[in-house]
Amino acid sequence: MNDRDATPARPRVYLETYGCQINVADSQTVSAVLRRAGYVSADAAEDADVVLLNTCAIREHAEEKVLHRLRELARLKQSRPDVKLGLLGCMAQHNRVAIMEKAAFLDVVAGPDSYRRLPEMLARAGDDASIDVRLDRAETYADITPDYGGGVRAYVTAMRGCDKFCAFCVVPYVRGRERSIPPSDLMREIGELAGRGVKEVVLLGQTVNAYRFGDTGFSALLKMVASIGGIERIRFMSPHPGDVSDSLIEAMATEPKVQPHLHLPIQSGSDRVLAAMERGYTVADYLALVARVRAAIPGVALSTDIIVGFHGEEDSDFEATTTVMRAVGYDSAFMFKYSVREHTRAFRLGDSVSEEEKGRRLTALIALQEEMSIARNRAMVGREFPVLVEGPARRGGGMMAGKTPHFKTAIFAVVERVAAGDTVNVRVDSATGHSLMCSLA
Ligand code: SAM
Ligand code: SF4
Repeated sequence: MNDRDATPARPRVYLETYGCQINVADSQTVSAVLRRAGYVSADAAEDADVVLLNTCAIREHAEEKVLHRLRELARLKQSRPDVKLGLLGCMAQHNRVAIMEKAAFLDVVAGPDSYRRLPEMLARAGDDASIDVRLDRAETYADITPDYGGGVRAYVTAMRGCDKFCAFCVVPYVRGRERSIPPSDLMREIGELAGRGVKEVVLLGQTVNAYRFGDTGFSALLKMVASIGGIERIRFMSPHPGDVSDSLIEAMATEPKVQPHLHLPIQSGSDRVLAAMERGYTVADYLALVARVRAAIPGVALSTDIIVGFHGEEDSDFEATTTVMRAVGYDSAFMFKYSVREHTRAFRLGDSVSEEEKGRRLTALIALQEEMSIARNRAMVGREFPVLVEGPARRGGGMMAGKTPHFKTAIFAVVERVAAGDTVNVRVDSATGHSLMCSLA
């Protein structure tokens, strides 16, 4: 929420976000909805009249974090019963009955398609909680411009929901069916962002490359966004390997604003496990896709998501995953222990791999990826890249940070004439698995 000139009469809301970038973007929409309704933002739960948690249900661990936070907030509610507490997002949608049992003090429970109605829900909440977890096939919030934060990069939701129903995943159940935002709304919004100094746009969706509105598919959308003056870089997250079309590869190869980084979640390197996960591709399909992408976009950075310990994953399946990881040589990877999720197709299969074994496999995978990330980044030493400057580096110490086209963090000493939003050429002097130490070229 940008409006900070609070008058005492206006209710103050504190919004806390858990989970992925899509949730962060949803919180910006929630913030815009509430600002329109007269709310202003508070800096801490203790200063707020309304405290909202926008939650994630992807793994049990994510839910546990929120339940822990709710127990803390219960104490706040005890000392200030007038404070309204709300649970938003995927967890609200996933298990509202169990949640209301564990947190009966909640005033509002709203799923991802109910944010438009939040002001009324908050007004209505009294002795009984106001609950709205209807999924709405038509809701895209296309007419609501989110409260984008500052910065040179903006994350813009291009499509919502998912139709893939991978056996392990709760997303289609909590976010509903796939629907795309009209290109005209996206163009207007991104044009406004460019006017405010945003240089890089990341198009978001659970399967963002399944984007389709009328005749406009994802590669056409990329080209449209590339035509917006002021936008210098375009990325997208998270594409599904099954929806990477020739036209998408062509758009990445030929449109200079589309950056040479592709996130291609593989999940497992074993055909047996991929079939049980119902991912819709084999290892051979995936490797053929990687080869096509690399042939069309030389030097492209590849990242992935991997789950270890899916039900039925044997040592040999896990070994197959490490073999594929080595074969592809990812620049980075998000790796997770399998977490059984109620309502999913894999729920009834069970959980055959022990927590200890999942932990061992995850540790081994993280070590392998770290080794490969270091090798990939060190291969960049001595080369030059244009870096979009974001501002001071997190480590401070008179350093600035930005991203290379491959989405690698570049760190270099502050130079007076260089500011956030500038693109500078840097030479890589040294590298770790997570960043490139550079000097201006
Ligand atoms: N739509 C994207 C795709 O298919 O690649 C991924 C979106 S999902 C929010 C992000 C990642 O969470 C998935 O790629 C998967 O690796 C992981 N994930 C999803 N369900 C999981 C589960 N039940 N246990 C562990 N990890 C899970
Ligand atoms: Fe979940 Fe699969 Fe959809 Fe990704 S594609 S959000 S993993 S169901």
